[in-house]
Amino acid sequence: MHILDGTAVRAQIFFGLKPRIQKLKRPPGLAVVLVGHDPASEIYVRGKIKACAELGIFSEQLTPPESVTTEELLAIIDHLNQRPDIDAILVQMPLPKQVDSRRVLEAVAADKDADGFHPVNVGRLVANRPAPRACTPAGIIEMLKYYGIPMDGRKAVVLGRSDIVGKPMALMLLHENATVTICHSRTSNLAEECRRADILVAAIGRPALVTAEYIAPGATVIDVGQNRIDDREHAAQLGRAEEFDRKGYALVGDVHPLEVLHCAAAYTPVPGGVGPLTIAMLMANTVALAESHQTESHQK
Ligand code: NAP
Repeated sequence: MHILDGTAVRAQIFFGLKPRIQKLKRPPGLAVVLVGHDPASEIYVRGKIKACAELGIFSEQLTPPESVTTEELLAIIDHLNQRPDIDAILVQMPLPKQVDSRRVLEAVAADKDADGFHPVNVGRLVANRPAPRACTPAGIIEMLKYYGIPMDGRKAVVLGRSDIVGKPMALMLLHENATVTICHSRTSNLAEECRRADILVAAIGRPALVTAEYIAPGATVIDVGQNRIDDREHAAQLGRAEEFDRKGYALVGDVHPLEVLHCAAAYTPVPGGVGPLTIAMLMANTVALAESHQTESHQK
């Protein structure tokens, strides 16, 4: 069993970005819009700002109140779209329920779309043309390449079909010449479908749903899930009693953390697997956007 280490892959991605940042005429700029005080969102944003500081990327955090309206957010985005020192804009999800999230995300200029969520960039992904890519699946592709895990001609099963993980993951694996199956909550014979996979990506948000019967011997298992377990007995069943006693909860993935060890050839643990890659690819998208903004065609 090979444990795939996301922090090592992140270090390599950062190592590759540093000289590219130094070559630019001005530092890349990332604006992060964080509405309200959702604790999880605040932690994610802190991690993103810290990564910017580590790499020499200029970052600016905008913190409209929880009561913000769609129109007010659109005005903020419009201003950021105009600013020449901002190359990339990220709107931290989820937004409060009174806000039209889709309108806000689509208002971010396609050439400042840090997360690769704009429909133009989704279209470019479908057509396999250069564009900012959804960060979590793009990071998973980097990890598979880093560890030399072949994708070409292999069977990949993506469990989950969200716009931010499952669908872009399936397309990226397809562009790497994998034969891809997408499974979701209406798939029949889920375990049987998953057991066909050489590469199984689980992104469903269901703690430890993927057990030994889902995993072919020798498969590579990528666990995207991040699920908080608040019940000690459940945590103990998953081998996480010590973590629970220390923190008052345990963080587990969508894959059973004990059973996977007996059947998979390689596995991304939670935490420490996929998690570090998402921020790394956000930095990569920001640098690539800054490079494209600073090419001659963009100079006035
Ligand atoms: P999501 O939008 O809730 O989508 C979940 C997907 O899983 C849906 O397509 C759903 O199917 C499918 N699904 C749910 N229950 C299922 C079941 N019992 N059997 C089969 N399919 C099932 O979730 P997401 O945003 O993609 O996130 C998935 C997980 O990844 C979450 O735990 C999230 O916290 C984590 N995540 C981690 C990172 C990271 O950086 N590590 C980044 C993003 C997300 P339907 O479409 O049929 O409803």
